[in-house]
Amino acid sequence: MIIAAILAQKGREVITIGPERTIAEAVAVLAARRIGAIVVVDAGRIRGIISERDIVRALSRSGPEALSGRISEIMTRDVVTCLERETINDVMGRMTRGRFRHLPVVENGELVGMISIGDVVKARIEEAEREAAEMRSYIAST
Ligand code: AMP
Repeated sequence: MIIAAILAQKGREVITIGPERTIAEAVAVLAARRIGAIVVVDAGRIRGIISERDIVRALSRSGPEALSGRISEIMTRDVVTCLERETINDVMGRMTRGRFRHLPVVENGELVGMISIGDVVKARIEEAEREAAEMRSYIAST
């Protein structure tokens, strides 16, 4: 299965935020949208990604004052992305090696979706179940 198939199921909405917004604002967005990471965008370009882990680390370092800091101070700037035509296995490997659970989908420099480890696991389970059903019906027909 490829990433385009996951996006066709889950939709292409990507939650974004500006780098100059506060960490408290990022917390509010994460909670309201029930997500674990937000792509940081400015002037139409991806500038970084901020996940709940970045916020937990900032809180542990600086205490509650961290919440008034800017997202740009704690976001990860080198964002790893994927393409719609890549397979689930491609992105699973990238997430495992990079030790992160989110992957923005980019086509021709444009943000077209967001994949989480939850989406990947769900798709992988569906794929395995489909293969098992095909195998059972093949065995039953022989
Ligand atoms: P996560 O597991 O997605 O909560 O992220 C763990 C760490 O990796 C955090 O520091 C994130 O900012 C960073 N991170 C998350 N997704 C990506 C990505 N696609 N590319 C680079 N860093 C990422």
